[in-house]
Amino acid sequence: MLGEKTLERFRVTPGKRVRLKDHDPAWAAADELADSSHKEIKASAKKLLKQTLEELAEAQELLYADNHHSILLIFQAMDAAGKDGTIKHVMSGVNPQGCQVFSFKQPSVMELDHTFLWRHQRVMPERGRIGIFNRSYYEDVLVVKVHPELLGRHLPERAKDQKQFWQDRYDDINAMERHLDRNGTMVLKFFLNVSKHEQKQRFLERLDRPEKNWKFSAGDLAERKHWDDYMSAYEDAMTATGTKTAPWYIIPADHKWVTRTVVAGIVTNAIRSLKLTMPALPPEELVKLAVARAELEQE
Ligand code: ATP
Ligand code: MG
Repeated sequence: MLGEKTLERFRVTPGKRVRLKDHDPAWAAADELADSSHKEIKASAKKLLKQTLEELAEAQELLYADNHHSILLIFQAMDAAGKDGTIKHVMSGVNPQGCQVFSFKQPSVMELDHTFLWRHQRVMPERGRIGIFNRSYYEDVLVVKVHPELLGRHLPERAKDQKQFWQDRYDDINAMERHLDRNGTMVLKFFLNVSKHEQKQRFLERLDRPEKNWKFSAGDLAERKHWDDYMSAYEDAMTATGTKTAPWYIIPADHKWVTRTVVAGIVTNAIRSLKLTMPALPPEELVKLAVARAELEQE
């Protein structure tokens, strides 16, 4: 796994203004991977990812057995940044029983009849589980901030008129994440930071390769036109909600193997920080095991 120092450099510092131009989407220079040739780097990255996934599987088993904590992983990104691929790869080694993925698209009419946190609160991970949100309530301070018309007619006038509207949403999010933390859910948030140039390459690939055509949607190009607005919405949101209890990580996303290795490392480290051990049975339960063994052996 990548070293703790390497992994920490991606964490947003609470209280410090986020500036995305200070974060290189094409970063790939971990000491652990400082081999000379491209081929060697790829080979050691593959090995490192495999090893990290094994470590993550072990950590998840403890989380499941211990059954006191849960982990919520939030993935946010521009289109084609690799959310789906990262989720697929990072979770490929873990026990599916201990893991739940939810994707949040445009809210339905019914969902819009509730507060913006409602549809997410219904599916928070149970104890012992890893819950993954592919997009999340952060859309309500990202896409909705870029397109305020999406607020539509669903909110009371009072809420819309407030000057403090976005700050209030950040406050609500922080309060909910604090509530989750206090009750045993660890929240980790990942912004997959793809460059505008790399997004273009990936869109072109989706257009060029028939097996990738289905991934392309014309709406993605429309959103690309708002790139700068999205970047500033992300900066504002991560500055306001990058807390000690629910940190944001800005993950370089121009190289897929970097994204996957870094995310897997951060999740593994986070579970390990809980210092979980396999639950041990109390002495009276151990006696029952001995009785059961004797009974089976006498059959
Ligand atoms: P992919 O394109 O890789 O399949 P995706 O997450 O982009 O995955 P889409 O169905 O393309 O999925 O898009 C979902 C859309 O829903 C995104 O454009 C997102 O901004 C939008 N969305 C999510 N939550 C909200 C929300 N609360 N309000 C408005 N739009 C939202
Ligand atoms: Mg999409």
